[in-house]
Amino acid sequence: MRLGLHLSVRQGPRAALSRGLDLGLEALQILPYRRRPGEDEGFRWEKPDPAEARELSAAVARGAVGRLAVHSRYVPFLASTDPESRRRSRELLARELGFARDLGGREFVLHLGAYSPGSDPAEGTRIFAEGVAEAYAGVPDAPRLVMENVPGGGRRMGGRLEDLAALRTELAARGVPSNVCLDTAHAWAAGYDVASAAGMDAFLDAAAALFGAPAVTLFHLNDTQAEPGSNREHHEHWGQGRLGAAGLKRLLTRPDFSHAAGILEMPPGRDEENLAYVRAVRND
Ligand SMILES: [Zn+2]
Ligand SMILES: [Zn+2]
Repeated sequence: MRLGLHLSVRQGPRAALSRGLDLGLEALQILPYRRRPGEDEGFRWEKPDPAEARELSAAVARGAVGRLAVHSRYVPFLASTDPESRRRSRELLARELGFARDLGGREFVLHLGAYSPGSDPAEGTRIFAEGVAEAYAGVPDAPRLVMENVPGGGRRMGGRLEDLAALRTELAARGVPSNVCLDTAHAWAAGYDVASAAGMDAFLDAAAALFGAPAVTLFHLNDTQAEPGSNREHHEHWGQGRLGAAGLKRLLTRPDFSHAAGILEMPPGRDEENLAYVRAVRND
């Protein structure tokens, strides 16, 4: 499995590229844009500098940083029953898809979001799929959609693998093909035992049965301090959380998922150590 990191675009795409090259990454994940200085609302945005975007895109095309995935930044209400909220989220999604394409992204990672109070998962999934199809229709050459599992809980959809399978069916019916990204910390918080080798095997077997292993093109390799099944979003440095090496080793050595890329989404500051940990587990 190719290994890479989620890197910040706070200093721009060029800085992320240069950091990725320094670290010898085989895959890279970034957000589509940075927030404007001094503003904290997710939808205050700054278009990536075109020259820097071209540079990154060219580096991806020549294979310098392996695969580039772009993770959605702020599209919170795609499943909302409120027409104005979802219209706004569809616009935001289309803009992010355009930026992701311009940066050279081949994959666009998206979470399912929550259905509205008084609605239900089936309706939420349908509205979400309609929104995604509408956004994709307006963006030529957009990167491939990759739907990620989340910690789940409450009205949040995408905690169970079955949620992703139902959404992919809705998307396919609207002409939007999609792949799957599996986050180990999110799976753990959603109640899957991905810490043990046997538990990881069961999780991956379930994914292979629901999606087909080739459709799982990304993993987010994160340790976590969250309690199992707690629905809590938490990422921890490798070796300092509850997951540890056993399940990770199983994941990294499953031949049916060797085509996928594994991205670490860690708190900043220990990139080298986290990469070294996962590389050692992979190569051990
Ligand atoms: Zn994510
Ligand atoms: Zn993730």
